[in-house]
Formats: sequence, structure tokens, C-alpha cells
Amino acid sequence: MKLTELFTQPDPDFGKAMTALLEHFHHSDDSQAPYQRGSFTHQLDQSCMPAIGISPRDYLARLTTLVPGASHLTSPRYMGHMTAPLPAFTAELSRLLVMLNQNPMKMESSRLLSFLEREVLAKLHRLVYREDDAFYAAHMHAKDAALGVMTSGGTIANVTALWLARNRACGDNLFALAEQGYRGAVILGSRLMHYSFDKGMDLLGLGARSLWRLDTDEHNRLSLAALEQALQQCREQKLKVLALVGVAGSTDFGSVDPLPELAAIARREQIHFHVDAAWGGPTLFSPRYQGLLTGIEHADTVTLDGHKQLLVPLGTGMLLCRQPDLMMTVKREAPYAIRATSFDQGRFTLEGTRPANALYLDAAFQMLGQQGYAQLIDANYDRARRMAALIDASPAFELMSAPVMNLLSYRCIPSHLQGQEPDVATNEEINLFNVALQKAQRAEGHSFVSRTQRAVSRYGEQPLTLLRAVLLNPLIEEADIRALLDDQVRLGNQIASQLFE
Ligand SMILES: *Cc1c(COP(=O)(O)O)cnc(C)c1O
Repeated sequence: MKLTELFTQPDPDFGKAMTALLEHFHHSDDSQAPYQRGSFTHQLDQSCMPAIGISPRDYLARLTTLVPGASHLTSPRYMGHMTAPLPAFTAELSRLLVMLNQNPMKMESSRLLSFLEREVLAKLHRLVYREDDAFYAAHMHAKDAALGVMTSGGTIANVTALWLARNRACGDNLFALAEQGYRGAVILGSRLMHYSFDKGMDLLGLGARSLWRLDTDEHNRLSLAALEQALQQCREQKLKVLALVGVAGSTDFGSVDPLPELAAIARREQIHFHVDAAWGGPTLFSPRYQGLLTGIEHADTVTLDGHKQLLVPLGTGMLLCRQPDLMMTVKREAPYAIRATSFDQGRFTLEGTRPANALYLDAAFQMLGQQGYAQLIDANYDRARRMAALIDASPAFELMSAPVMNLLSYRCIPSHLQGQEPDVATNEEINLFNVALQKAQRAEGHSFVSRTQRAVSRYGEQPLTLLRAVLLNPLIEEADIRALLDDQVRLGNQIASQLFE
């Protein structure tokens, strides 16, 4: 085969084989190809490049052995991670987007899609900040305005927020703070802040120790008393507070920090206020649940993840900016491409070249509409409440936080410890039991939840192993939830007899 044929002649059989592979994959679960690190690494142990290429048809044989080893994220009994099930139209849409291969870093290499990105950001900005028509008409497509930036995910959005906050306070020069009489700089938020903030602190040269993870209350919300105390300490020690972070949907509990109070404190202290709504942001679509996020409209910046509750492919995050000129504080230019007087988004994105994933959001907005998202959110949040009720009603489980969104933390209690008040030693036993249970369930492959380690106020500072359910898949039915919990009780009984006898 001539190499140029790879560029000009699509192989219809290749496309059909892809469809068949996906079809088969979606009708199986992890139990068909159990996770075995040894066999996986043995399958993939070649460090030499092939000298000569093979045909797409021959490559299919390789794909056929690789694909079953992937995680079955779309199974309605797989409730462990924040990975979205994708609407079926995504498959064809992604083909279009990938083959267009536009690069919105630069207007010349994405043209209309650069402006589509701005339109998508304006819609989400309006969802959060509810400015009027005149505001959006003035700023949506203005050259030196950005209602936000697209990122590859929540991590880069959070890092960008810290970058903005730092530059607002002292430009790109932390030493300027010394000239203002400060002895250092910190960022404040709750101990439940996502670990992307630690990475951001590292990159800013401040180090993770300057990220103060403050105490939470019994509902896993940042404690206002702890915050006031931290602010007092900063005044005494002459530390500049670069940003205050509020979490709107914590990764483990779905809890929401007291946003109106945080906004008021940030305003009083003149601190950049960032809200991490990577998970929780789309709650705003739901008339029933949007009250959970009251106060988010006061945030200077808001992180959203498209690839979570907006149900679009991975690689789709956003940082929204309340003020359209805020992004100018991190503007950078490159003479060969990114010109100061252009519409190039690359002037202020941390990433350079990146895919035009705003098209996925556009498609989902158009085809689902606000109401479609509201229905999906309501159904998921209701499902979490139903699952919480099932957990709460069974002596085999202990619910560790009341459901706020659609994330649940709970643990399984071995039968000989049910109905007791666990002390520290008992909690250690229960921790070991839940680690073993989660691994056994994962190995069996029929159903899945993830696990985390957190202190909950009921048991003081002791870190507890918690099972963590994410109810994101609209195809989850009550029968799936019951089956998952039944699997845990059954495996739990087996494990208890091995661990405790
Ligand atoms: C998922 C998440 C992030 C990180 O987002 P990525 O898209 O994984 O980079 C940050 N904060 C919260 C609250 C999240 O749930």
C-alpha cells in the first residue's frame, strides 16, 4: 500500500470493525477481562518501534486484544468515578471534530470555531453570572475581553485561576509583595480542596505549604470560624492572601462551601474569590437544586468541567471570569502566531495547541437544552437520595454524609460489628475491611464504587476508608443500585470470614 493512501482512502471495513468493537465492549463488563497488572504489562512489553508499518486491517487484530482491557465506564453498575457516559451522537461528532483538527489557540487555525468557543463560554457565563443582553452583546466577541477560557480540564482551570489571582496581586513578580511589606503569600480554602490546587501552588513557586487547607464543619463545608482565624493569622504574620477558594461540589462528598458568606468575606478583605465548581456547576441548570450554588455569582473566577456533569468527552474544562478584562492580567504573545491585536485565545490560555472541544458543548447545549440538563441533574440527584435511603436503612452500611448532589460516601460494616459505636480500634478494623471489599468488588468486575480516605466529624480526626459512589449515568436504575449493594454485602460476608476469624 502506498503511504499516501492512508491519507486519501478511508477503509469502510475499518469503520465497521470499530463500530462492532464498541458495540461488543458496551455489552460487557470488567469481569470479562479482569484487572491483572501482570498480564496487562506482559501484553504491552515491546519497547522497539515497528520498522515497517502494517495495514489498518492488521492493526485491527491488535485493537481487538487491547479494547476489552479498558475500563467499562458506561456500565450502569459502574458508579465509581466521575467519568461521564456520552450521548450516542458524540461518536459521529467526534469524527467530525477530530478530522477538522482545528486549533483554537489561534484564530487563523480555527476561524469560526474560535468564535463558537466564545459563544459557548458566554452561555455558561450567563448561567453563572446572569448579566443582561447588553453585557453579552458588548463583551462576547470583543477583542480585549474574555468571559473565560477553555482548558483541558478542571485541573488546568484551577491552576489558571491561581495564576490570575497571583498576577492580580503582584504581577508575575512575587518579590513585589515584599516591597508592599508582606512576608509571604497564601491561598485559603477548605481541607477538601481538590489536589490540583497543590500542583498550582508548586508552579507558582509558593509550594503546597502556602495552600492553607482549613477545617470543615459537620456538613463538610469550610468553617467560617476557621477562615476568620486564618485571616487574623495572615494579618499578624504579614501574609498576603492571594485567593480564597470555595468548593461547589467537593470530590468526596459533593458538599458546597457557604458561598454567600465567603463572597462577603472576600469582598471585605479585597481577595480574589475563586469557586471550584468542576463537579457541581451544572446544578445551576436545575430549578429544583440551583439554590445549592447561591453566591457563585459573586466569584471572580469559576472552574467548570464539561467532561463531568455536562456529559461531553474528556478534555473539556473551563475557567469563567466575571469581569471580561481579567484574563488580560496573564496575557502573553508570540510574534510568529499569537499577536497582541488578534482574537487569538492563545494569548491567555495556559495551554497552547488544543482541540476545539467547545463543539461538543455546543452540540449538547443545542440538543439537550437547559431543560434536558435539568432533567438529567434532577434524576441523578434523586437517585443519590434513593441510594442514601437504602444505605441508611441497612445495618450492613453506614452513610457518612447526607446527599447534597449525586456523590455519596458510605462504608460497609462487617456483621459482627453492626449495631455498635465504633471506637478508634474498631474503625481501623472497618477501614481494612472496606479496602479489601472495594478491591474484591473491582476484581469481580460486575459492579464498582471507588474508595477514598477522609476524616468525618462524627469520628474526629481519624482518617476513615470510605466507599464513594458517583451517580452520573442516566441509565442507572434502582435495580442496579440494589445489585451493587447486594454485591457488597455478599463479598463483605466472604471477606469478614477471612479477615476476622
Ligand atoms: C474533577 C475535579 C477537578 C479536576 O478536574 P480534572 O478535569 O480532573 O482536571 C477539580 N476540582 C473538583 C471539585 C473536581 O471534581
